[in-house]
Formats: sequence, C-alpha cells, structure tokens
Amino acid sequence: MSDSIYDVIIIGAGPGGMTAAVYTSRANLKTLLLERGVPGGQLQNTEEIENFPSYSHISGPDLAQNMFEHSLKFGAEYGQANVQNIVDEGSIKVVYTDNQVYRAKSIIIATGTKYKKLGIPGEEEFAGRGVSWCAVCDGAFFKEKELVVVGGGDSAVEESIFLTKFASKVTVLHRRDRFRAQPILVDRMVKNAKVDIVYNTVVKEIVGENKVNSVLLENVKTGEVTTFPTDGVFEYIGMNPVSDFVKNLNITDEEGWIITDQRMKTNIPGIYAIGDIRKDAVRQVVTATGDGCMAAIEVQQYVENLNAESAKSLLS
Ligand code: NAP
Repeated sequence: MSDSIYDVIIIGAGPGGMTAAVYTSRANLKTLLLERGVPGGQLQNTEEIENFPSYSHISGPDLAQNMFEHSLKFGAEYGQANVQNIVDEGSIKVVYTDNQVYRAKSIIIATGTKYKKLGIPGEEEFAGRGVSWCAVCDGAFFKEKELVVVGGGDSAVEESIFLTKFASKVTVLHRRDRFRAQPILVDRMVKNAKVDIVYNTVVKEIVGENKVNSVLLENVKTGEVTTFPTDGVFEYIGMNPVSDFVKNLNITDEEGWIITDQRMKTNIPGIYAIGDIRKDAVRQVVTATGDGCMAAIEVQQYVENLNAESAKSLLS
C-alpha cells in the first residue's frame, strides 16, 4: 500500500479525467491520475476532431498528447494501473489496482466506454483478422480492399469516411432507413464516391477462412438473406460503460452507467463521475472536459470541508 493519502484520485485519463487533473493540481490538491491504457481515451481512436473550440482540425492522438502534457503541468502524479475495486471507508476511499493499493479523500471516475460487439458467429474468431472496432488503428491494413462498416451513429459515419483513405470501397450497413449521426457527417458520407449505403440490413454472421471474406446479411424488411463479399468488418454500434470495478458501490443504473447529479456527485459523498461514463452524457470531448472542471471544483470544496472537520475534531 502506498503511504500517501491523495486529496483526489482520478481514474481514467480521457479528456474529462485530464481536465480534472489540471484543475485539482492547479488548486494545490495532491492529485493522482490513473490510466490502464494510453492517455486520451476515445481520442486515440478518432482520426480528426473539428468541434473542440480553438481546434477546427486536429488529430485525436495529437489533442490527447496536448491534454496529457497539460494535465501534468501543475504537479499531478500519473500512474499506469488497472483499477479493480474501490472501497468507501467514509473519509478515505481505497483504490485497489492490479498491483498497488492507493488511498484518497475523494475519487473522480472518468473511465468512459468501450465498443459494443454484435455478438454474432465469426466475430470473435476473426477479431484482428478482418474484424475491428478501431479504424484509426487498423484502417491502414486495408489498402485497396473492400470494407463494411456496421452502424448508423456518428462513429460509423465518421469512420466510414476515414476508411476511404485506404479502402477502395466502404459499404455502410445500417439496420434502419435513417441515420442517427449528425447531418453534416451524413452529408459528407453520402457525397463520398467510395461509400455505398445499405439500409434496413443487419449482419447475421461473419464468414472467412484464415481471414474475413464475406458477411451474411439479412434485410429486416423482407427477411431476405444474402452473402456480401468483404475483406473487413468495422463495428460501430454504440458503447458500453467501463464500470465493472464500481459494481459494489451501487452508483450505476442497471446497464452500468454511473448516475450523478448536475455537479457530478454520485450518491456516495466524495465520489464523482464525469464524461462518457455518466448516464445520459452527451458524449462529446467538450462536455467531458466541462464535467472534469465541475467535478474538480466540487472536489476542492469537499476536501476543504473534510480537512476543516478533521481539524475541528483534533481540537475538541
Ligand atoms: P450510437 O450513437 O449509440 O450509435 C450506434 C449505432 O449503431 C446506431 O445507429 C444503432 O442503430 C446501431 N446499432 C446498435 N446496435 C446495433 C446492432 N446490434 N446491429 C446493428 N446496428 C446497431 O454510438 P456511436 O456512433 O458510437 O456514438 C456514441 C456517442 O459518441 C454518441 O453520443 C455520439 O454522438 C458520440 N460521438 C460523437 C462524435 C462527434 O461529435 N464527432 C463522434 C463519435 C461519437 P439505431 O440508430 O437504429 O439505434
């Protein structure tokens, strides 16, 4: 167990967590930022950001790097760790990771989301051999190949456009006849000569030998099943929360999204949640950073009150 008691431990170094670290460390709170992967969260999987004020065009990994450097500028400590559990002991919260135990007066949870999977035959078998959830990571493996993208939200639409940098053709398979993605993105996709769209269609199976060679499609209106040749499948069908490690705290809804009030407070004093992990979050970089600021200000107040109470009890 580490001897230090941190004022705040921030779990997850995405845009929300990194912003919170800037604010808490700049307020002289002893801050530890923990991340199990590469700092940046979903920014690392995003080719281009064009709606973060002051950047009309920046790559996700570049913005992540800028934020990460900034997050450590005022003295926050950084650790690579996979958090397994948090135990609430009242004025102290204990954070258990794979190989260390940390203690803090408060916690900000900023662990975001992971991609949903289709759960169909062939998906696990061909993961990394034609099936992917990350165009930025894997797109370059598909130069002059034909791809399908599954989904109809912002991610599916944005990433289908990105994949045309490499692929000779990208077919977007959407289960409905209307996209939920922002109209500006849909418009760009529709105008892209390399993108075809197939509506009212779901993938039943991913088929191949050593690697993917086709998908089995079903038209949800007619029930017709067809084989569609493809070299790769990119799944963008939404997100699941990364919150297994807080199961025991009873701060989530039944799907695992963390419930907070508008000040980012969970139902446990001293534990806050920010960004994409929050129930009903808008899931934008800019809103995650706003959440980070809000939680940090709340933490400042909480730790100040806690310190004042313990000073009072020492005197009495
Ligand atoms: P999303 O908005 O939840 O969209 C998921 C899409 O997948 C929907 O079109 C959904 O269809 C479809 N889908 C879900 N389950 C499916 C299944 N089993 N089979 C086939 N299709 C299925 O997810 P997202 O696009 O990953 O976006 C997540 C959040 O991040 C959103 O809030 C989004 O706005 C945000 N985001 C923003 C940006 C940006 O601002 N540039 C970029 C990326 C993501 P239905 O439409 O029929 O439900």
